[in-house]
Amino acid sequence: MLKAKYIFVTGGVSSSLGKGIISSSLAKLLQARGFAVTIQKLDPYINVDPGTLNPYEHGECYVTEDGAETDLDLGHYERFLNVPTSQANNVTTGRIYQTVIDKERKGDYLGATVQVIPHITDEIKRSVKLLGETGKFDFVITEIGGTVGDIESLPYVEAVRQMRWEMGDDCLVIHLTLVPYLAAAGELKTKPTQHSVKTLLESGVQPDIIVCRTERHLNQNIRNKISLFCNVSPSSVIESIDAETIYDVPILMLEEKLDVELLRKTRMPVGNEPKLKIWKQFLYKLKNPKDTVNIGLIGKYIELKDAYKSINESFIHAGAANECEVKVHPIHSEGITDATVAEKLNGLDGVLVAPGFGERGIEGKITAIKYVRENKIPFLGICLGMQCAVVEFSRNVLGYEGAHSTEILPDTPFPVIDLMEDQKKISNKGGTMRLGSYTCKIKKDSKLYAIYQKGEVAERHRHRFEFNNRYLNEFEEAGMRAVGINPNENLVEVIELKGHPWFIGIQYHPEYRSTVASPHPLFVHFVKAALEHSATLRVTSDPKG
Ligand code: GLN
Repeated sequence: MLKAKYIFVTGGVSSSLGKGIISSSLAKLLQARGFAVTIQKLDPYINVDPGTLNPYEHGECYVTEDGAETDLDLGHYERFLNVPTSQANNVTTGRIYQTVIDKERKGDYLGATVQVIPHITDEIKRSVKLLGETGKFDFVITEIGGTVGDIESLPYVEAVRQMRWEMGDDCLVIHLTLVPYLAAAGELKTKPTQHSVKTLLESGVQPDIIVCRTERHLNQNIRNKISLFCNVSPSSVIESIDAETIYDVPILMLEEKLDVELLRKTRMPVGNEPKLKIWKQFLYKLKNPKDTVNIGLIGKYIELKDAYKSINESFIHAGAANECEVKVHPIHSEGITDATVAEKLNGLDGVLVAPGFGERGIEGKITAIKYVRENKIPFLGICLGMQCAVVEFSRNVLGYEGAHSTEILPDTPFPVIDLMEDQKKISNKGGTMRLGSYTCKIKKDSKLYAIYQKGEVAERHRHRFEFNNRYLNEFEEAGMRAVGINPNENLVEVIELKGHPWFIGIQYHPEYRSTVASPHPLFVHFVKAALEHSATLRVTSDPKG
């Protein structure tokens, strides 16, 4: 039974400074020193979870093993720590209020006026301590979304103030701020940091460690200045300089001794050097690729950096595993037609068709799949991408004109993808999809089996529609095989194409399970297939070859 210390990470001056990466990096260092760590994100918006948000709002929706639809930072937590998170690791204001209001209706507060303080703040504190009270962690790192001073963050900052007061050394606050470089003055400026710490102080919270995001190195003068104005020792002023990759940040934080400073302040043993061998090997391979492959990522949110976060990160892990650089080329599905497809996919060694919802861009995805099927380019279809592969095959190989998913065309004559039976009665949109981890049985004589090297896996899901088993025989006879099946409900999870070097469609989301320590085998083998494809292209285009 471990007694947890609570570390809060707040942000100041600007959003997007990378609280998630700092939290993950610190957690990685503590884990590498032998401590058990978990990371939690508190989001100040009113949605109960981000499942109903479109990617324009907060980027990708990440899904945990227990089926929680969460903030994408949880993806970083898992990719860095290689430990699964759960619903308890992401709490929103909406969820906090929902719980408090449910309790009020049940009569739990009978007689009392229910207020932000203490009822909302108590519920916030309960959600944070829930993780610590499992007895499984030395440290619970809680990242508070938004920026201090935001109206919606106030109850969270107040909860932090109370926890610090109650727990003393067992609770610590790290404040991440921006130290901008003013080119005209030729100087780094500390004033925004001073102001943001003052804002925290107005709420009664003195940060213990200040992490300064910066484009240029902080000299001792700057560190002393921040120390003087913000009441922290100079050793507690930590530089976080822009990094080439997010995976460098743990190493940069190690050099800045963020972990040692934190352990000292929480009176925990520092011990020996952290064990980061696997991490450093990964970084070496990432930075010293021997080859390059070009992969097309086809989706409808390609202009958004964070919409396909986990897919992009999975390619980074798989690239390192193959010692090659994976150049991901985002391609907007709306621009793909019969006339443009050859030019748009020209030079690609592999094509991934992304998950998604709704009609926009769907025909472009189907056209691209026809092209990669016929031209034997390695293909990976994820969720909607798999469903599009099924639609394409039914139209162009089986000859089912007008075949579609009923999500897009409810009265299609050939509903090859249809709403799952238990989805038909559901009208609420929030948290009602088929979510989280389910078992998939794999046929022994398949490529999929060779990839996983086992007959049963558990993968995470997020969908309402499924392959329509009414058509399964026709598909199998024509060469599209169902090689992965959910054994309890007989749902098709994975399809594979005979006679194609690498064509796999999966109903689940492998990208949520790829980590630095354990790159996902499907991505690793997809990149390998792309490498092989690029090698054959080189041979065939070599005039002497
Ligand atoms: N829209 C599809 C479904 O609900 C696919 C979902 C996805 O790609 N995550 O089944």
